[in-house]
Amino acid sequence: MKNFAYARAGTVEAAITMLGRQPNSKFLGGGTNLVDLMRENIEQPDALVDVTGLQAGGISELPDGGISIGASVRNSAVANHRLVRERYPLLAQAILAGASGQIRNMATTGGNLMQRTRCYYFYDEAAKCNKREPGTGCDAIGGFNRMHAILGTSENCIATHPSDMCVAFAALDAIVHVTGSKGERTIPFEEFHRLPGNTPNVDTNLGPDELITAIELPALAMAKNSHYRKVRDRSSYAFALVSVAAALETANGKVRSARVALGGVAHKPWRAHQAERVLNGADANAETFRRAAEAELAEARGFGYNNFKIELAKRTLVSVLSELAESGKAQ
Ligand code: SF4
Repeated sequence: MKNFAYARAGTVEAAITMLGRQPNSKFLGGGTNLVDLMRENIEQPDALVDVTGLQAGGISELPDGGISIGASVRNSAVANHRLVRERYPLLAQAILAGASGQIRNMATTGGNLMQRTRCYYFYDEAAKCNKREPGTGCDAIGGFNRMHAILGTSENCIATHPSDMCVAFAALDAIVHVTGSKGERTIPFEEFHRLPGNTPNVDTNLGPDELITAIELPALAMAKNSHYRKVRDRSSYAFALVSVAAALETANGKVRSARVALGGVAHKPWRAHQAERVLNGADANAETFRRAAEAELAEARGFGYNNFKIELAKRTLVSVLSELAESGKAQ
């Protein structure tokens, strides 16, 4: 690992100033991904600005019934918070499906959004990887790509985003609050992460001097009937092959409203707009759910080893929606 300077920021403003002083510097949250990348020489910052001590650390209720989660709040604290468990059960379930207890105790909310793909070739300095070294190629295309994307891919990269939490945020229309040298702004969650296109080295639309300060979850009464299902190779400490975050509201046998996002299938958490279009107003039954899944995966493309993900995503989506249709009757 390359030597680096370390400094701890006391305020958001100080953190941004400290980052600006050193061109090749990075914010440090829990370090559960960044430090791994530094050990492997994939990331080689000259300086780290530790932002875990900032006052961006609480969970608070908003006047409209939504909640705000500070960027420094640890994943475990979010998953165990009463408001999250009551109002957004899919978020608590998504967090608890990720990593291990020890990692969740360290990892921060802001850091979760910033984690990088777990594509094996990205971590292998001997492999060609456009995300690590733009213009070198992609060894995953035509290689062992069992974990890789089936939606929104490009000829330059087929990596997936590894987060579970972010899939729930996508379904909930979360809003990312950021602060930079030019002031504060908000980014709709769906616009925060990017598809690979010609620039797979750029993961997000966060500016180089911007720091995530909070995630806002708008009020969403239907989220009480929600679920996160993660399909993976072993029952813990494994990344998703496919995951589904969904909330469903039904009345008189019809879908009144649906929110769906998929994980493990794309370079970003994948909001399932095509599925939602089929679901809204339709009969709440298995036939509708399968049509919704077919619509969402119509453009999906496998790369050999990951072809199975297309049918797996459809079946997981149908299963989750079927369960929510049943549990929704009781609410
Ligand atoms: Fe790199 Fe993306 Fe290809 Fe993986 S899929 S090797 S991250 S360019």
